[in-house]
Amino acid sequence: MNILLIGSGGREHALAWRLAQSPLCTRLFTAPGNPGTARHGTNRPDLKVTDHAAVAAFCAAESIGLVVVGPEAPLVAGLVDDLKAAGIRAFGPTRDAARLEGSKGFTKDLCAACNIPTAAFARFTELEPALAYVRQQGAPIVVKADGLAAGKGVTVAETVDQAEDALTGLFAEPGAEVVVEECLFGEEASFFALCDGTRAISLGTAQDHKRVFDGDRGPNTGGMGAYSPARVVTPEIEARVMAEIIAPTLAGMRARGCPFTGILYAGLMLTADGPKLIEYNTRFGDPEAQVLMPRLASDLVPALLSACEGDLSGVSLEFDPHRAALTVVMAAAGYPGAVVRGSVIRGVDAAEGDGVHVFQAGTRAEDGQLLADGGRVLAVTAVGDSVTDAKARAYAAVARIDWPEGFCRRDIGFRAVAREAEEG
Ligand code: AMP
Repeated sequence: MNILLIGSGGREHALAWRLAQSPLCTRLFTAPGNPGTARHGTNRPDLKVTDHAAVAAFCAAESIGLVVVGPEAPLVAGLVDDLKAAGIRAFGPTRDAARLEGSKGFTKDLCAACNIPTAAFARFTELEPALAYVRQQGAPIVVKADGLAAGKGVTVAETVDQAEDALTGLFAEPGAEVVVEECLFGEEASFFALCDGTRAISLGTAQDHKRVFDGDRGPNTGGMGAYSPARVVTPEIEARVMAEIIAPTLAGMRARGCPFTGILYAGLMLTADGPKLIEYNTRFGDPEAQVLMPRLASDLVPALLSACEGDLSGVSLEFDPHRAALTVVMAAAGYPGAVVRGSVIRGVDAAEGDGVHVFQAGTRAEDGQLLADGGRVLAVTAVGDSVTDAKARAYAAVARIDWPEGFCRRDIGFRAVAREAEEG
């Protein structure tokens, strides 16, 4: 069958690489795509993803049997709803189901109603009661914008003053909706589940690195690197996450008339009281997809098709249990602030092979050269026998890439590497 993949980041390059390997995939199109996805199929930068009728017309013209949506914005905008209404098979949640990512308040209310472990919280639509609540609760406390904010809507306030400033900032926008919640303590990890509306199967675990500089310092980013599996999520914790968080979420969504089909990506805090949900995303992570895809031993396409059909009961996904994957994001100088585009990147081909994949994000091909064209530019990914081994191989590949205008963190995977050293 022909497959259409939506998106243009490193996540989509990793998905394109994986989808194109499937014996079921005849032709792969990516809209808009990037020079990395172009290596595995045909890019369609001309297709306007926000024009759902145009996407549906393209699917009809190219006999697309499956649409896979990478990023969150088209999900929240209802692309899957509109494609399904046009009779096209599309993988991902409907607009209503994507509220699990699009509205933190919706998710918190669902957690409260379904007894899902999460931080205690209150929702506000006005500044004064929010200020009063923060003063009464004290610090540390967490202030969040309700809607999609590309990771920038959250303040973990160390003091009441900081929380008040964050609230004042958010309520400066008319119609602001805000969640204030208890600060949780523990190690963070991500858990990924493939869902068919009723059932979920594990797609594995990962840990990412949000801050721009080594030692988790500096401003937040889209993610500077990740590794999988996150062994801090033991099989016992994974079973609790499935039973206490994922299963009640799917039941709650069904009960609300918006069953969840797609990737449920749970951001977890592993607290002394057990795993608690920090937030949901409703798609693969970027850069987490870049470490999940290389570890996946099974064909992804039949699993996505079964999820679309609402029946994952016969599906089991095999991951290579003995191997780890680690990805190092190379970003343009200045990221996450303003960056200069157009610098030349050399050595990508030389860095690849033998379990190393250089997934491309903000790149552009011009006159036979690869140019930087965004903030996060490459995700240099390696598999190895351990996170420590994968890390060494990923950084060896980074060293082969000649791009003086780029930078990366040097400590991706540090928690897992320390844990592996302790375990000997
Ligand atoms: P979110 O966008 O909700 O994932 O929040 C972004 C980051 O803020 C998370 O990855 C955590 O590091 C931090 N964070 C969010 N909520 C909490 C909380 N309740 N307690 C502690 N840290 C939090």
